[in-house]
Amino acid sequence: MSQSSLSAVDAATTGALLLGDNLNFWAGERQAPRPGAADAEPVYEPATGRVLCQLTPCGPDEVNAAVESAGAAYLRWSKMAGMERSRFMLEAARIIRERREKIAKLEVINNGKSITEALTDVDVAWQCMEYYAGLAATMAGQHIQLPGGAFAYTRREALGVCAGIGAWNYPFQIAVVKSAPALACGNSMVFKPSPMTPVTAVLLAEIYREAGMPPGLFCVVQGGAATGTLLCQHPRVAKVSFTGSVPTGKKVMEMSARGVKPVTLELGGKSPLIIFGDCELDNAVKGALMANFLTQGQVCCNGTRVFVQRDIVGRFLEKVVAKTRAIAVGDPLLDGTRMGALISKPQLDKVLAFVRQAEEQGAKVLCGGQPLVPSDPKLKEGYFMSPCVLDDCRDDMTCVKEEIFGPVMSVLPFDTEEEVLRRANDTTFGLASGVFTRDISRAHRVAEKLEAGTCYINNYNISPVEVPFGGYKMSGFGRENGQVTVEYYSQLKTVVVEMGDVDCLF
Ligand code: NAD
Repeated sequence: MSQSSLSAVDAATTGALLLGDNLNFWAGERQAPRPGAADAEPVYEPATGRVLCQLTPCGPDEVNAAVESAGAAYLRWSKMAGMERSRFMLEAARIIRERREKIAKLEVINNGKSITEALTDVDVAWQCMEYYAGLAATMAGQHIQLPGGAFAYTRREALGVCAGIGAWNYPFQIAVVKSAPALACGNSMVFKPSPMTPVTAVLLAEIYREAGMPPGLFCVVQGGAATGTLLCQHPRVAKVSFTGSVPTGKKVMEMSARGVKPVTLELGGKSPLIIFGDCELDNAVKGALMANFLTQGQVCCNGTRVFVQRDIVGRFLEKVVAKTRAIAVGDPLLDGTRMGALISKPQLDKVLAFVRQAEEQGAKVLCGGQPLVPSDPKLKEGYFMSPCVLDDCRDDMTCVKEEIFGPVMSVLPFDTEEEVLRRANDTTFGLASGVFTRDISRAHRVAEKLEAGTCYINNYNISPVEVPFGGYKMSGFGRENGQVTVEYYSQLKTVVVEMGDVDCLF
């Protein structure tokens, strides 16, 4: 991709999308927000601080319209053979691939992450679509022989209208990762993006339509907590798949419990990355950077508690700090940029406050942790900060206990395997974990003992679509990606067939 700059991104290149406010989608087309709504909120571009559009949250009438539309589409879609659904999905994957640069660019403008990362996110999205297109025709049941010639069989059936609620860190990817398996299983979906990143979900809705899927199969309603609540509580919504923070996840679970609806919760984390003294140090350093600084550190599974065995702490810090200082922070639309802007001004302030608090509690800032103003004048109102490495951290510090969701790495020395496992597991979260060592037995022993949904051995933050992803403990339950996700978007019906006379006790 050629070098581009923010000034090139205006109404001419992005069409009505950035300036228009029609970001809802149901009945097969974009829908205008409620006229004269007093509760519209501005949506910002993180790199410049400019207002991209106004977001009017959907109220009960709009949520109803979207769910009705999805309900009608479900009746048609769920009756198709898996192979038919697969063909539509492969076409959607092809269109996503064709438009990868446009989608990625809009993601950057709305989210602030670097174009390099955004392109990868879009690639993961079309791969995910292809993967679940491949699985659509594999939905099948079992045949069970019973006495006297009787038998039973099971049918794997769709659930109905599923609700997807997304976070702002991977807006397009989350919309695909939720909808692709849902649609493969024969469901329809009403998706609500984060109000901070409403832009790219509607592109996905348009792509599904262009791929020939029934109108209403994938609907988008915009809004925040109130709209999300309406969606979770809607009697025609059969399942909720949620990505976001633990406190919101609890509310979603409570609402789903009231409706006895299955729920998938992909929540936050404070994951441990354990680096043993026998590791290949350069790879461990790279792993620690990948574990902390993707998407400005706003990644749920980040390994932000970096436990380093005491004999290599000095050498590790020297290398990791040098590489962190060298990270190119700035215009996220430039190819050479490796770190863009945080999602919002409040998020930037919150992350910086975590760093100041860490210092007050005794941590040492080895680099970064400061607001950053790029030299380009059009970025002067952007939400940038320098990536930060904290040394002298203790387990009881706030920066070590709480999810910061920013580019802040906390380094903690340790002595023994037993000790580090106890400390690594001493958290209410359990999303991911990592271990760097050349000792193969230790690697698998540690992976077994870490209380987390994923453990990376000698790497970090690689999430191919074929591999299940999800949390232990308060990081949630249910899985996304991989074959197992089919089970979370379908239900099993048992059909029992008598071939003889009824054996009656009465
Ligand atoms: P958030 O919990 O504030 O919001 C998530 C979504 O829930 C948004 O769309 C929001 O509008 C909606 N929402 C808010 N209140 C609601 C309610 N009462 N009912 C229904 N919906 C409601 O989270 P966020 O700030 O958008 O995202 C950051 C969090 O997401 C972090 O904790 C991060 O770790 C987590 N996350 C987890 C994963 C994962 O796969 N485990 C992936 C990305 C982000």
